[in-house]
Amino acid sequence: MSRCVALLSGDLDGAVAAALVQVQGIEVHTLAYATQFSPVEEAARQSAEQLQVPIRIVQPEPTEYLQLVARPRFGYGKGANPCCDCRLAMLRAAVAWMNELEAEFIVTGDVLGQKMMGQKRSHLEMMEHHAGIPGRLVRPLSAKLLTPTLPETTGLLDRERFHAIHGSGRRKIRDLAKRFGLTGSEKGASRCRLVDPAYGARLQAGLASKLPKTWLLPELFDFPRQRWIDQRGLIVSGRNQAENEKLTLLFGRLPADPTILLATPLGFPGPTVLSVGLSRAEAERQILAGLRDKGINIGGERLRITDKLTE
Ligand code: SF4
Repeated sequence: MSRCVALLSGDLDGAVAAALVQVQGIEVHTLAYATQFSPVEEAARQSAEQLQVPIRIVQPEPTEYLQLVARPRFGYGKGANPCCDCRLAMLRAAVAWMNELEAEFIVTGDVLGQKMMGQKRSHLEMMEHHAGIPGRLVRPLSAKLLTPTLPETTGLLDRERFHAIHGSGRRKIRDLAKRFGLTGSEKGASRCRLVDPAYGARLQAGLASKLPKTWLLPELFDFPRQRWIDQRGLIVSGRNQAENEKLTLLFGRLPADPTILLATPLGFPGPTVLSVGLSRAEAERQILAGLRDKGINIGGERLRITDKLTE
């Protein structure tokens, strides 16, 4: 039986594309590429379960992936999302597994002309070239609009059973998903933090800073209220109880370091504040100044400032 590797991200497109190949008698193995900004592993596992196929989860090393985000060869989408570079990294992981499995081709749920970055014809064509698999990248959802691939021209796959989906309309994909009994999200991109322009801007400031890259956890840039002190230190404040609790959890996940501090108000209603990269004295000054700007005029004795070394 011929084999392929299909990319899954938990969205309908990838799962439907895999099913369209599976019903042609191909043994489908799947792969999900789960980055720290796009933790798709659980959703992808569910798709694989529905398809009843094996899945391999690849998680790039976080600081290596940050380098890709910091300097993408093919640029960004609307946020800090380097989709072409990221998809190329996914494809390379799939090619490695394809070779291990002695599989013949790779399948993706790409749809020509979708709004997401990387779905233009020129991008789709460039991908297989840069991944080193010319003619062996099959996109069943838009196959009839694309150059026939090797498995199609050799008769391994029947091109007539594929589709000519173009653009962002979802009806046809939903109908196919229903036919195959598949559920999943509409777009994997919605799980990727990097596509949000505001999040992207905060992350870019972090990438340009002097903080160690290992401290740039994805959750650090979830909080809208944050300011940089030069490029040395970051002050992050919670806007409500939920954010204050999340900041406390984030503090617990950051390394034990004298410049990673959590300030909590003592006896007055105020935000929890995380300071990263500043000395205790400077952090206290900056936090008190920030509170004064909000009309909270207190002395340092009313702040409990902790680090994980002296706790
Ligand atoms: S949306 Fe995120 S995970 Fe998906 S290709 Fe773009 S950068 Fe990668």
